[in-house]
Amino acid sequence: GADISARNIDALSTQFPLCMQNLHKTLRRDAHLKHFGRLQYTLFLKGIGLNLEECLVFWRSSFHKITDDTFNKEYRYNVRHTYGDVGGDSNRRGGGYSPFSCQKILTEHPPGPGEAHGCPYRHFNLENLTTLLQGVGITDRSVLNGVKEDKDSQKFHMACNRVFEHVHKNEIKKAKDESVMTSAQLETIVHPNEYFKRSYLLKN
Ligand code: SF4
Repeated sequence: GADISARNIDALSTQFPLCMQNLHKTLRRDAHLKHFGRLQYTLFLKGIGLNLEECLVFWRSSFHKITDDTFNKEYRYNVRHTYGDVGGDSNRRGGGYSPFSCQKILTEHPPGPGEAHGCPYRHFNLENLTTLLQGVGITDRSVLNGVKEDKDSQKFHMACNRVFEHVHKNEIKKAKDESVMTSAQLETIVHPNEYFKRSYLLKN
C-alpha cells in the first residue's frame, strides 16, 4: 500500500502533475510558498491521502527558515482549517475544503509575480513552460511540439494529458494489453488528484 507521509513527498512528487511539481520545486527552492500556492498544494496533498498531522509536519519542515513560533502563528491555523480541524461548524462537518479541479486552477486566481500556483500549461509563457518540462525530464521533441500546439489552441488539459501519456506510455500499453484498466479509467484527466491516482495505479 501507499505510504503517504511527509517524508515521502519528495519521492512521490515525481508522479505529480506539472502544476504540483512546480509548487513542490518552488517550495524546495525558497523554503516558502505564498498563500494560494499553499492552498492549492495543501488541498492536493490532502487529496492524495496525506493526513493533517503529516501535512503539518510537511509544511513545518519545508518552511525551515522560520521559527516554530512564526510557523504556529502564521501558517498552522490555515492548514488545520483546510482539513476542517478548526473553523465554523459547516467547515468542520464538511471536513474542510475539497482539492481544486483543473477547471478551478485554470480559471480562478491567476498567479501574479512571485506566485507559483495555477497551471503551468496556461500561466507560463512557452519558454518557461518548456524549461520546466525539460527540468522534469520531458525532452521528446514531438511531445514538446504537441504541448505548444495545445497551448496555442488553449487546450491546456490536453497538453497535460499528452505529457501524462508520454511519461506512462509503457505502463498504459501494458494495462491496455492486460485489460487491467478500462477505457473509462484512461479517459482525459481533469483533476490533479486523478492524475496522481492514475499514475500511482499504473506504476505500482
Ligand atoms: Fe495541473 Fe490540471 Fe494544469 Fe495538469 S491541466 S498541470 S493537473 S491544473
